[in-house]
Amino acid sequence: MCGIFGVWGHQRAAALTHLGLYSLQHRGQESAGIVAVAPDGVARGVRKMGLVSEGFAAADVSPLHGPVAIGHTRYSTAGSSTIDNAQPVLARFREGHLALAHNGNLVNALEVRRELEDRGSIFSSSMDSEVLVHLMARSSAVKPEHRLADAMAKVEGASSLLVLIGSTLLAARDPRGWRPLVMGRLGDAWVFASETCALDIVGATVEREVLPGEIIAVDRDGVRSLQMPTLPLTRCVFEHVYFARPDSYVFGGSVDRARRALGRQLAREQPCPGADLVFAVPDSSNSAAVGYAEESGLRLELALIRNHYVGRTFIQPSQGDRDAKVKVKYNPVREVLAGKSVVMVDDSIVRGTTTRGLVALIRAAGAREVHMRVSSPPITGPCYYGIDTPSKEELIAANYTVPEIARRIGVDSLGYLSLEGMLAAVPDGPKGFCHACFSGEYPTAPPTTADRTPLVAAK
Ligand code: 5GP
Ligand code: SF4
Ligand code: MG
Repeated sequence: MCGIFGVWGHQRAAALTHLGLYSLQHRGQESAGIVAVAPDGVARGVRKMGLVSEGFAAADVSPLHGPVAIGHTRYSTAGSSTIDNAQPVLARFREGHLALAHNGNLVNALEVRRELEDRGSIFSSSMDSEVLVHLMARSSAVKPEHRLADAMAKVEGASSLLVLIGSTLLAARDPRGWRPLVMGRLGDAWVFASETCALDIVGATVEREVLPGEIIAVDRDGVRSLQMPTLPLTRCVFEHVYFARPDSYVFGGSVDRARRALGRQLAREQPCPGADLVFAVPDSSNSAAVGYAEESGLRLELALIRNHYVGRTFIQPSQGDRDAKVKVKYNPVREVLAGKSVVMVDDSIVRGTTTRGLVALIRAAGAREVHMRVSSPPITGPCYYGIDTPSKEELIAANYTVPEIARRIGVDSLGYLSLEGMLAAVPDGPKGFCHACFSGEYPTAPPTTADRTPLVAAK
């Protein structure tokens, strides 16, 4: 996944973008970058591997002068973690520069890339997003927003985008509105971000969402909106379940409210009579556990403490020492757990490896019974649209039944939220959401696979 942030019309555009990226760090920790356009029209960019706090010093940002900037935090799968794949992409074409920051994943990027390569295009990265840069450069449209519309009409999949062409800032969402993108105001400046928490950090107010299929152009001529044809809405429900920050509003709804409602619905569907207390696996399930406690009447306890400073420098333990990773990240509170029958709430189970380690920790801390409740349905398929869920072989719920999963992770009982319950609980549900990784109902064909190395998703 990725986080994107952009500013138009503020003297300290790059510095604001730098701040905004801190708030979008949860959307991608692999690399970060900023491109700014100086008053003389020259675009400059910095891209670094790692966290914003690790990679970017004030000295990196201060040369990025000018009132217009875009930034990106990137998450990628292992192996594709190179600086060539960091964003924003900055390229030059006959009309000047073109920069792009992409959140989402295109499903037909390989096909489009092959067509472009057949016509002579040369690519400098393995990212799906680079095809958009080429398509924009090849467009014969005059206005920047039409150039982007031409490019977007040729791709399929998820894309929330921030693009710089000259000193025009473009913000766009794909015709299904897969990924979030909001527009904010800071004095006379316009600010765009994946989530509203990034507007908060710079003191901007929310103006509105960028609409599905909409391209907003901001430049000296003002703010223009171009509406492309839309397709049935498939906003990613996993943004509400896990991905977005609870202090954000995405798709016009509060993530905190969504997670609490998911937790309440979970308590109705999967109660746990006789338990002594409920606790969250911090941080992603905190709000869902609050909802579960509210609805069930069980006491909410802080039974697991998460170490936030483990960071990326921690060397992954060997397979045989798998639990060490969990132990470094989480520690149970014995005082709370000893002798108790407990409900552990988490937002999702992916491979089941973290969960198994956690359950072992909770038992070792003296819990009498461990009942797990999950505030989303079993994940049975991969995501092609920007979330880094693994392939079917690695997904525990694609391979085992719920009772088998309960045995494998070592809990006394396991209850998942139903698909209907999840979709009814999220703001503006139940219609208009993608739930393919839970339901198998994919809105598009799977991405083109290649006989050569597949394209890496920017995410
Ligand atoms: P598992 O037991 O499947 O190994 O891990 C479950 C945990 O992974 C949950 O706490 C859940 O919040 C978290 N999780 C869910 N989706 C993702 C994801 O896409 N990336 C990462 N890093 N963690 C995830
Ligand atoms: Fe979101 Fe799942 Fe759809 Fe991917 S497949 S976009 S994670 S709901
Ligand atoms: Mg979690």
